[in-house]
Amino acid sequence: MTVREYVSLRELTTFKVGGLARYVLTCDSIADVQEALTFIREKNLSFRVLGSGSNVLARDEVYEGAILLMRIPGIRIVEKDDAIDITFGAGVLWEDAVSFVAEQGWWGIENLAGIPGTVGAAPVQNIGAYGAELKQLFVSVTVLNSLSGELSVYDAAACQFGYRDSIFKHNQHLIICEVTLRVTRTGEPRLGYGDLAQAVTEGTDMTTPARIAKAVREIRSHKFPDLSIYGTAGSFFKNPIITHEAFASLTEKYGALPSFPAVSGIKIPLAFILDKILHLRGYREGNVYLFGNQPLVLVAEQHETFDHINDFANTIAEKVFVETNISIEREVQTP
Ligand code: NAP
Repeated sequence: MTVREYVSLRELTTFKVGGLARYVLTCDSIADVQEALTFIREKNLSFRVLGSGSNVLARDEVYEGAILLMRIPGIRIVEKDDAIDITFGAGVLWEDAVSFVAEQGWWGIENLAGIPGTVGAAPVQNIGAYGAELKQLFVSVTVLNSLSGELSVYDAAACQFGYRDSIFKHNQHLIICEVTLRVTRTGEPRLGYGDLAQAVTEGTDMTTPARIAKAVREIRSHKFPDLSIYGTAGSFFKNPIITHEAFASLTEKYGALPSFPAVSGIKIPLAFILDKILHLRGYREGNVYLFGNQPLVLVAEQHETFDHINDFANTIAEKVFVETNISIEREVQTP
């Protein structure tokens, strides 16, 4: 474990916003995480785990606790007939995991190409894109409970996966150290989402996992901001899931709306509401704005503050509520 003091959260998050963290503890192994927890206990600190900081909006004031920077590396493979179980260290970059799997020609992970962050963060949010969700590949996670010190293995049921949700989002004392995913030697392209189907009609080769991953990255690069240039954490809000009654009253008011069946109701693309109903595509207040190519994405230009971004996001949520009666939830977390 390495210890750094007074490190700016601007350097550790893709929003490039936030104050100083009193301690940053970089962990390269489970033993390092255990050592970090001892350090935290001895100094009576609070702590937060960060991977790549790509789903986080940090506050401006000094964080007096410790940031546990998850950098556990490693890939272990167990092959069983058609299935391949791969255990990744929580600090492996998700994109590296996707590239590794897709380049072997193994199926299951390719639609999730281009998502920023670490493998350890993927179950927290149950990341999903283009009809694939982490939980479909998921076998287990190794979790260190910071309250009890116990190291245990959680299966999918224990993780309580939901839409961009899991037990880990609500229990920050559970630290994900390793993630095991199951991919397969044989598989079929999943090209049902509009953007992928469109790529096929345009002649893009989508016959192998590596080609699908490449196409997904290409599509995302046009639609979502480049994190190395823009201050952003991708989609700021979740797409709302509303009741059938609420959907009926929306269609009565606005006519046909895009919608998709969800487990607990009907999922509506928030980008459609922001763009076509509220006309907020590109809406800006000072240096903070909704991205022109995808209004669900909030972008902050250099030297922005938490307070301003937070106020801007609240304004957007309020506008959505006043117009549609839908309460939208944030996907981005504030540590
Ligand atoms: P999109 O494909 O235009 O989809 C917008 C919304 O419609 C999403 O809620 C999506 O659900 C839903 N949807 C679209 N086609 C669907 C289908 N065939 N079946 C079921 N639901 C469908 O969205 P986008 O903004 O361009 O993003 C593409 C994908 O990447 C989406 O899956 C999105 O969730 C994901 N993504 C996630 C983030 C993030 O930060 N979490 C950022 C960028 C993109 P789903 O959300 O369930 O897919």
